[in-house]
Amino acid sequence: MELLEKLVLTAGIPGREQRIRDLILQETQGLFDSVRTDPMGSLICVRQPKGPAQGKTPLRVMLAAHMDQIGFMVRHVENSGFVRLQAVGGFDPRNLFARIVTVCPDVEDPGQDLPGVLNPSGRPIHIATEEDKKKIPELTDFVVDLGLPADTVKKKVNIGDMVVLKAPFTRVGQTVVSQCLDNRVACWIQIRALQKLKHHHCEITAVFTVQEEVGLRGAMTAAFEVKPDVGVALDTTLAVDTPGVPEDQRVSVSGGGAAITYMDGATIADPQLLATFEKIARAKKIKYQRSILPRGGTDAGAIQRAAAGTRAMTLSCPTRYIHTVTEMVHETDLNACRDLLAAYLEQAG
Ligand SMILES: [Zn+2]
Repeated sequence: MELLEKLVLTAGIPGREQRIRDLILQETQGLFDSVRTDPMGSLICVRQPKGPAQGKTPLRVMLAAHMDQIGFMVRHVENSGFVRLQAVGGFDPRNLFARIVTVCPDVEDPGQDLPGVLNPSGRPIHIATEEDKKKIPELTDFVVDLGLPADTVKKKVNIGDMVVLKAPFTRVGQTVVSQCLDNRVACWIQIRALQKLKHHHCEITAVFTVQEEVGLRGAMTAAFEVKPDVGVALDTTLAVDTPGVPEDQRVSVSGGGAAITYMDGATIADPQLLATFEKIARAKKIKYQRSILPRGGTDAGAIQRAAAGTRAMTLSCPTRYIHTVTEMVHETDLNACRDLLAAYLEQAG
């Protein structure tokens, strides 16, 4: 869990994944035969087959876990020193009241990070009108207060600077809670599954992709380069097994095991691949569930359609309260995803 904590506490919005990429590089030393970064910033890590030679061309499997988290860029610095934001990825403004944020003037140097407070502009409850109370602010209404004189803010902060929400990593019951478990849990699963692997006959290209949250952009270019036989995207999926949502719309169940995604807004998964994963899960007694996500997609959508096409699917980790700072993942599901991925790779090829 120490690794997961480090992963969620490292900032990386779409297009600014340098810090998280450096952390992954550090944490995976010796795990791969070759590592390279593609022009967009995705980290492409290759492991050649290990174990007894099969005497045939190995199956080429591409894994993809996106490194980016939803966040913001500085859009404008007001003369008063308040900072306005541009969202990079899908935020619900109702979740953004009274948050601590980190403004990162230099993506290469965390030493220059500045803490700030995020709130919607307008009157507080004491003096709010009835009209004010009914209004849900737009993202453009929010401002960051850095608690510094305006001229200091203008010297330090610039348009385009990365801004992320700040929230602790907390153990809650049998779960872990944090911001950006989407998708650092998948980075964790990808690393831990590969560390667990004893042998494999397939050639594994584990890609830590960029810019997924703005439209699967990094996976698209990485898959065109890798041109794998099989693509497995690793991501979170909705677990809305919570009050106020009808049971048929829950998508997945927290603690119900690894979610094998039959379709989402970007992919209809390869039936043979789905059947293989389920067969392995049953044989190895790994908890799994089937899942369909009506809207939204994962890197599998880009991998499936790259070049002349790839057999692809998504292995998903059920996540409650997704895209908030209280994303919640059950330990059973984390471990099930890791074990199922490792078991698949051990037999693939
Ligand atoms: Zn995601």
